[in-house]
Amino acid sequence: MSVLLKVSNISKIYGDNSAKFVALKNVSFQVEAGEFVGIIGPSGSGKSTLLSILGAMNQPTEGRVVVDGIDVYGLSVERQADFRREYLGFVFQQLQLIPYLTALENVMLPLVVTTHKDHEKIATEMLEKVGLGKKLNRLPSQLSGGEQGRVAIARAIVNRPPILLADEPTGSLDSVTSKEILSLFNNLHSRGQTIILVTHDPEAVESVSRLIQIRDGEIAADESGKT
Ligand code: ADP
Repeated sequence: MSVLLKVSNISKIYGDNSAKFVALKNVSFQVEAGEFVGIIGPSGSGKSTLLSILGAMNQPTEGRVVVDGIDVYGLSVERQADFRREYLGFVFQQLQLIPYLTALENVMLPLVVTTHKDHEKIATEMLEKVGLGKKLNRLPSQLSGGEQGRVAIARAIVNRPPILLADEPTGSLDSVTSKEILSLFNNLHSRGQTIILVTHDPEAVESVSRLIQIRDGEIAADESGKT
């Protein structure tokens, strides 16, 4: 396996000298291609800060994030946008589907800003892959919570990003629906997708192949080798 993501000595301080808050302290780890990494920790421990730093959306105060040899925060803002589009897929707890677009149109959205042709064909194939081939033309309001989650995941991976970042994707779902979403993540992982998942959900923790625990902005444990 090759190292896909390397985080070196990341610190993040919010605020100024009058009200300084250290959200992350000297965090280092690396992720190999194909790993399914869970990040857990109490509320306020720095998980979302870490995920947004990995997502090229939040400049760390110190340290480096290198993905596939690219020093992410050494890039210009424009190149960071290209980097996000090329390397990352995002799934958020509020799935952020566009309510007036169909499932198919939601999944086509990220393709609009690429050089891909055949947007409709690619988005249709992705929705078929997540089991929604028969519901392409439904609006989000005409889909169940689990189906909406599957649309959000299809949209996140339609550009085939090397890394899928997910922030509490099962946080607002009932247990049956969250099982459905976790089994989709497992399925993607078994097909080689690298996934980094911030979660509070004990069932999600069972799914991952490696668990990083964050406490007070530091890595408290890093347990690899789970199946
Ligand atoms: P978690 O995701 O584990 O709940 P966060 O990364 O959201 O933790 O937050 C870590 C700490 O940093 C919290 O104390 C939070 O209040 C603080 N924090 C997060 N974002 C900001 C910000 N933009 N400005 C100031 N403080 C922030």
